Amino acid sequence: MKIGIIGSGYVGLVTGACFADLGNEVICVDSDKEKIDLLKKGTVPFYEPGLEELVRRNLKEKRLSFTGEIKEAVKNSLIIFIAVGTPPRPNGEADLTYIENVSREIARHLNSYRLIVEKSTVPVETGKWIEHTIRVFNRRKVKFDVASNPEFLREGSAIQDFLRPDRIVIGTESKRAREILSELYKPFNAPIIFTDINSAELIKHASNSFLATKISFINAIANICEKVGADVIKVAEGMGLDKRIGRAFLDAGIGYGGSCLPKDVDAFIHIAEKLGYDFELLKVVKKINENQREILLKKIKDSLWIIKGKNIGILGLSFKPNTDDIRNAPSLEIIDALLKEEANIRCFDPQAMPKAKKILKNRVLFCKDPYEVAKNADCLVIVTEWNEFKELDLLRLKKIMRQPVIIDGRNIYDPRKLKEMGFRYLGVGRE
Ligand code: NAD
Repeated sequence: MKIGIIGSGYVGLVTGACFADLGNEVICVDSDKEKIDLLKKGTVPFYEPGLEELVRRNLKEKRLSFTGEIKEAVKNSLIIFIAVGTPPRPNGEADLTYIENVSREIARHLNSYRLIVEKSTVPVETGKWIEHTIRVFNRRKVKFDVASNPEFLREGSAIQDFLRPDRIVIGTESKRAREILSELYKPFNAPIIFTDINSAELIKHASNSFLATKISFINAIANICEKVGADVIKVAEGMGLDKRIGRAFLDAGIGYGGSCLPKDVDAFIHIAEKLGYDFELLKVVKKINENQREILLKKIKDSLWIIKGKNIGILGLSFKPNTDDIRNAPSLEIIDALLKEEANIRCFDPQAMPKAKKILKNRVLFCKDPYEVAKNADCLVIVTEWNEFKELDLLRLKKIMRQPVIIDGRNIYDPRKLKEMGFRYLGVGRE
């Protein structure tokens, strides 16, 4: 099938490369010229395991191409996916400017039937507005349909998640659109939920908000565990074995971050309010999440007494492992708070340092590995649970640190073992 993808970021590029790999002809569009120039050469401008190889293979086979022109994709594709960003506005509402711009631009170039599919995460009723906008600017009165097909992939395992989804959601009122998308997704062998556009949009916001709720729930439990000396990992295990609950997303820590959960929770609270419903539950989910960062900072202060002038090492900058994405990363908040108190920060991340350097500049020292971070450190803070931090030479760390203090925001170490080795060790929700 001929497919156009507008927005070639984490979602758009993975979608485009995967559809191309399945034999479709895909044109990926982006308004960022630099990004398109790199992609044309087969260079992926961000880190996602396996993606560059997939892009290169399909570029070579001429199933995948890149352009800065929406017109090119609209003229040459039957299905047009919108995968542009939907960032938060200062009040938490989703900024749908990119979606609107793209909808108008698509409408301007329509010359025969097209199916426009909303893949970006958007508040309920956005599809209705996309349809309205295209109708208004579709001067030639060309036939078109709109569908919602939210994406559930996770950065770090995006290709696997895209190709082997738990479910595919297709929201549309049109039989033709439903048939086209069923055909496109046939090779996936995954359950498909057909529904109306509003329900499809709500499935995405509700799913992300539910995941955020699970994280905040277990973090609240962790805070109780700390008060009574219980172990949140055991509690999560005991809860998670119940099939009605499930173990996933019950990892206590410093809270969720990234480009999706914080913004989607905010946007859901906002759209609910606009519709006349006060989503109090989600407001508390958000508050618990923000509080986890404060709790971590308090642990650092309680361990070091005075922060000013202390050498604090940060392990992990990306918002989660296997990505270089630092949008809304807890690391940035924590570093900011420590810098305000005049700590000296050294940090390391296996992938996210180039992006972090652009934001943090020379306010912190970027190191070549965890041992350089630990040199003369008064405290090491584990912020992202990269696998390579799980097998560090702890004796070596202890020797080079000024004080053997580890604050583990992701519970990657065994508290008993570290204490036996002479560390002052504080995890989340366990002693
Ligand atoms: P991103 O910022 O990585 O990519 C968006 C791209 O759209 C950018 O490259 C930007 O230059 C481009 N763009 C903006 N306006 C454009 C225009 N007018 N024409 C062409 N290109 C334009 O964002 P992302 O992480 O890929 O997220 C995209 C959407 O998918 C968001 O709504 C997000 O919530 C959702 N989503 C993201 C993930 C994830 O893990 N990143 C997962 C599921 C859903």
